[in-house]
Amino acid sequence: MSDSVEGYDSDNIFAKILRGEIPCDRVYEDDHVLAFRDINPQAPVHVLVIPKGPYRSIVDLAEQGSDVEIAAWVRAQAHLARELGVADSGFRILSNCGVDGHQEVAHLHMHLFGGCDLGRMIEPAG
Ligand code: AMP
Repeated sequence: MSDSVEGYDSDNIFAKILRGEIPCDRVYEDDHVLAFRDINPQAPVHVLVIPKGPYRSIVDLAEQGSDVEIAAWVRAQAHLARELGVADSGFRILSNCGVDGHQEVAHLHMHLFGGCDLGRMIEPAG
């Protein structure tokens, strides 16, 4: 795991969750990954799957994370789809990155949505 990633702000709310400074509704944890329910769910199943390392986006993880961390993060998402009962009915995974992606929390997270018809992917840009 990378100790420091340039530009990573360790005061972000998910870093505080990782340090145990604020609570979360945890659904999964291993050496490299934590997953918890979104505080403002947009679907019956809405969890956030985060690597424990200090990565802002998938670009940081891909460029500076280890293969073990990357594999653990991907496997956790699939594991949770299965565990939360949406692997067969269908689900969506989505990661907002940066300004154009409207990323609110600057710690890499994959949203996992499911449990209902999620509609089309996104509205076309105007
Ligand atoms: P975004 O960075 O735009 O992909 O979205 C950040 C997500 O984090 C939003 O869906 C928020 O509802 C969620 N969120 C913010 N604070 C918390 C928290 N303390 N616990 C769980 N989810 C949170």
